Amino acid sequence: MDYSRVVDRLITRQLRDWDVAGRNYAALGQVAVRTLQLGESTIRLQYNPERRRSSAAAIDVQSLRQRDCFLCSEHQPARQKAILWGDHYKIQVNPYPIFARHLTIADLRHVPQHLAGRVGDMLQLACELPGFVVFYNGPQCGASAPDHAHFQAGAKGGMPLCDEIVHATTHLLADGDEGFIGYVDALGRSLFTIETSTRRAAERYALRLLDLLPVPRGASEPMVNVLCWWDETDRAWRMAFFPRRKHRPACYGAGEGQLLLSPASTEMGGLWAVPVEDDFNSLTPERIQALYNELCMSRQDLSTVISGFSHRWEDMGPI
Ligand SMILES: [Zn+2]
Repeated sequence: MDYSRVVDRLITRQLRDWDVAGRNYAALGQVAVRTLQLGESTIRLQYNPERRRSSAAAIDVQSLRQRDCFLCSEHQPARQKAILWGDHYKIQVNPYPIFARHLTIADLRHVPQHLAGRVGDMLQLACELPGFVVFYNGPQCGASAPDHAHFQAGAKGGMPLCDEIVHATTHLLADGDEGFIGYVDALGRSLFTIETSTRRAAERYALRLLDLLPVPRGASEPMVNVLCWWDETDRAWRMAFFPRRKHRPACYGAGEGQLLLSPASTEMGGLWAVPVEDDFNSLTPERIQALYNELCMSRQDLSTVISGFSHRWEDMGPI
């Protein structure tokens, strides 16, 4: 079922009836934007002070235990409404938007953020929200509620990478009648791309990839940011996986010479929400490249994963 209309109605009503959402979406329309060119990739910077709460979120076990989870219904404001989706999700308007239309899709239960059992849900969501890119931030990769399973979704057109990936040089790792998984390093950060005509095939490639990626000691899954969308033009599911080696950059902080940035899926997608004005004005393509290099796994880091697929590295001609 296509949820577009129901979601449109939810957004319209929430912006009208809920002052926090109304104010923040109006403010988003006025934010300053800068565009940087990183080789073949466009980076869009957005000065967004309201995102400070997300960039600066404390996600250590103690802090999480002491705060009221903002994705649990009992702690949400009465004005925040939800649409039920599937058996155990709710779709809500994100009151601190990066996108002109920005949703949070959370599990109804307070259970930890974990991807493997939810890849099928993510693909189905992308299909039923065709105007959006659905994204997932791993518990150590930018999720500000790692203790409560959730996706987010942003209006298509917001993240430059989603268009770039369609034409980027891709090294084929595995393919079949229903699509392929490939590796891309032409866009300034390492990523795996999946394109399939069936949901099942995309899920199979995604699970194989999650299986091959290293799991850091003490973590429950590989460190990843994931984008997923339904490509109406090519009638295909698309996913982009960004394996991470670090949660926050060494320069993370609000002090002199530091950056208050906690990059997650949207930044991997080329859209950087920057809460501090000085940071917004001072970021350069070189700095962004250095941040990607620091936070994302390199081709070398991923060599075992790449060779884990059936095609050998030498066979991986660009497609
Ligand atoms: Zn919760």
